[in-house]
Amino acid sequence: MSKDTVQDGLVVSMEYTLIVDGEVLDTSDGVGPLQFLAGHDNIVPGLEREMIGMKIGESKDVVVSPEDGYGEFDEEAFMEVPRSEFPTDMEIEEGVELSVTDEDGKNQYARVESLTDETVSLDFNHPLAGAELHFSVKVIELRDPTEEELDHGHVHEEGHDH
Ligand code: ZN
Repeated sequence: MSKDTVQDGLVVSMEYTLIVDGEVLDTSDGVGPLQFLAGHDNIVPGLEREMIGMKIGESKDVVVSPEDGYGEFDEEAFMEVPRSEFPTDMEIEEGVELSVTDEDGKNQYARVESLTDETVSLDFNHPLAGAELHFSVKVIELRDPTEEELDHGHVHEEGHDH
């Protein structure tokens, strides 16, 4: 199979800009291209699907709906937690993001939505849940992953080791 188009199992290097509600939320401008291993859930599904088959040097604008992006906003994804369940030295303020361990021992991110002296209300929605994502992408480079990268399912950029 030719490896000059974006496909599962290749490391894709791309320039990108993410716009939500007319505002630039994230861009590779000034930072350099982002690398990701295609086919391993490293970018939102709606974007990856549209990038499959793109050639090096090709640009594209992609609009991703919430269900193909960071999910619909879930009114039920809130939880009230007694303040006593948090470590006393933990700083808890509105808007702060916390890593919470659920019953299955899995780490989840949550934002403090509001708080009182007794309880903390946590919002488990992704910050971009419900948002329509407008991406502009350009494929810069394609390469084979290293064995370790393939094994881990993600790219190891220089200086990163995990
Ligand atoms: Zn790794």
